[in-house]
Amino acid sequence: VLGSATPSLESWRNALQKRHMLHELRERAPGMQLPAATIVSMQEERRRLRAMGEPRSSVIGPTLARALRTTLDEGGQAVVLMNRRGYAVCVACPDPGCGWVKTCDRCDAAMALHHVEQLGGVMRCHHCQAEQVVPSRCPICSRKLAVVGAGSQRVEAELLRRFPDLALGETLVRVDSDALRAGRSIAQTLERFAAGAIRVLLGTQMIGKGLDFPNVRLVGVVSADTALALPDFRAAERTFQLVAQVAGRAGRSDGPPARVVIQTLNPDEPAITLAAKGDYRAFASRELALRAEADLPPVSRMVRFVVRHRDRQVALERARRLRDAIAAHGRSLAASERLKIRGPFPCPLSRIEDRRRIAIEITTATAQAAQRLLAALRSAGAVHADASLVVDVDPLTLL
Ligand SMILES: [Zn+2]
Ligand SMILES: [Zn+2]
Repeated sequence: VLGSATPSLESWRNALQKRHMLHELRERAPGMQLPAATIVSMQEERRRLRAMGEPRSSVIGPTLARALRTTLDEGGQAVVLMNRRGYAVCVACPDPGCGWVKTCDRCDAAMALHHVEQLGGVMRCHHCQAEQVVPSRCPICSRKLAVVGAGSQRVEAELLRRFPDLALGETLVRVDSDALRAGRSIAQTLERFAAGAIRVLLGTQMIGKGLDFPNVRLVGVVSADTALALPDFRAAERTFQLVAQVAGRAGRSDGPPARVVIQTLNPDEPAITLAAKGDYRAFASRELALRAEADLPPVSRMVRFVVRHRDRQVALERARRLRDAIAAHGRSLAASERLKIRGPFPCPLSRIEDRRRIAIEITTATAQAAQRLLAALRSAGAVHADASLVVDVDPLTLL
């Protein structure tokens, strides 16, 4: 039995096509009410924050702040979601004409700013885990650098500043993989949250799923947009799942309905508005239609090849040869398989650990056709298992 309020579109489509028997629970369990969700526009909230004299970097808008104040004053508990690790997204030159950003030496990606206990700040690459000291001035134009974007550590700092009655590690606890690495146990934290000692649980999507606490009176989503901008056809689906799952943390008891406040820069985005309403059916039918139009999974099956090499030219040539081999072997597939070959093109993350990354994505109508094609490529020697080529069947990310 697959049970979920937000099944993957793959499972949902299988169910619709009767490969799985679909059994719907149309209402919540007795005594449970779907909480009322409020979507707030962050553009507007930022204007109001500035009018209140809050610093430009503040990310908790007046609506969420007021709801949290009320919740704490009434003795309730809150879950605050910020699905991005670290303190800030990057450190960059404030002059748009210069545009310098601190990037990883070995990856084509900005380094995130992290706070490390007893050490202060450190720049960390989320792709190769490299660490560097935090630069203070732009190496091009010598301006003082700006700290851009917020991660869960920055939200933690803002909560402590604006809610002085919260004490870090006691009534306010952050749960993300950094906190776990620092030795805090998630089971212990959840026990203390269940016992009521922790008033505000802040975290990444780790706290989004499966937790069930009756005294949670408020769920705040600091940014519903963290997954939206990813160069990935599942961006909307991930956004829907994240918001719908965490919104379901509230109101799991027969007390007064809990509040859900969702902050977003895209208040009209269907993935967010439908998640706020908990309308999976509407989201799935809309999203499946878009996927069908673009011939993307789960309507088709996808195999992703990533060719990796230190030398960009070598990677590109190998990828071109692979594309030609795919095209040649693909001619034996029936036309009804609608084989499509996209690429070669540089991956969105075009270099990781000094290896250039070139992608080819293919889609076919059925999984069997994709497997037959892969088998043919393997026996022809065009695809072999080594570090220079990654083959991902039904890839979950396209970075
Ligand atoms: Zn790196
Ligand atoms: Zn500069």
